[in-house]
Amino acid sequence: MPWRKVACPPLRGRVVLVSLFVGADGRGWSDEEIARHLASLGRAARWMEQEAGRYGVEASVGTADVYFQVDGGETPDIDMVVAQSGGEVGLFEAEMTVRALTLMSRAAAELGVRDAVDFVQEVAARLPGTTVAWLLHLRLAGRSYAVPLDRTELDGVSLAFCHARQANFTEPLIRPPVPRAGVLAHEVLHLFGAEDKYGWPLSHFPPRSVSRRDVMRLDSERLTDLRVDPLTASELGWAPSPGRWDRED
Ligand SMILES: [Zn+2]
Repeated sequence: MPWRKVACPPLRGRVVLVSLFVGADGRGWSDEEIARHLASLGRAARWMEQEAGRYGVEASVGTADVYFQVDGGETPDIDMVVAQSGGEVGLFEAEMTVRALTLMSRAAAELGVRDAVDFVQEVAARLPGTTVAWLLHLRLAGRSYAVPLDRTELDGVSLAFCHARQANFTEPLIRPPVPRAGVLAHEVLHLFGAEDKYGWPLSHFPPRSVSRRDVMRLDSERLTDLRVDPLTASELGWAPSPGRWDRED
């Protein structure tokens, strides 16, 4: 079925982060685990506001007052493919977009909504005047992944697909979930058009446009180490592209 391809929204104005917590293999998220993740997401939200402010952009970013929670199902078998992520080529899990959207659709059904498209529309209707960014927190270890609006296969459905702990490949959670505010910020920024910048030397980018501290490189996962550098800022609609800056110099 054809769908309308749309660009990612710019990160400005009122932005609300809505979380959907999905359990796995018979175990749901505990209230305490959810509280810790929401606190971490709140830190990421404040950090995004501050970074926008450095570029003179007004953005009010906050976590929604409500979140959604479902038990989830069994973990399916997952195929592997050779693929590119940032500047790295390696073995990755196949069809992450389909998996993320399938989890979102199943969660919608569990919550009594027809499908993910309706779910997203219903929540957006309750938050007029805001841009809604969705995060799906899966209670498994794995690689985080974003499905931005310009790459989704479901009309209007974009989400940051976050795992409870970092691992290169999906695996059961043996130790407790660990929220990582830097990774949450990185994935949310993808939803607003930011591109990965890890895996390349800094010389790959226009001069002074990306440093080791850029959040889209994730050389560190601590928010205090991270910032939005000019190239990422231009992708977010916060600044002209660094190439143009150079010409104006
Ligand atoms: Zn990324």
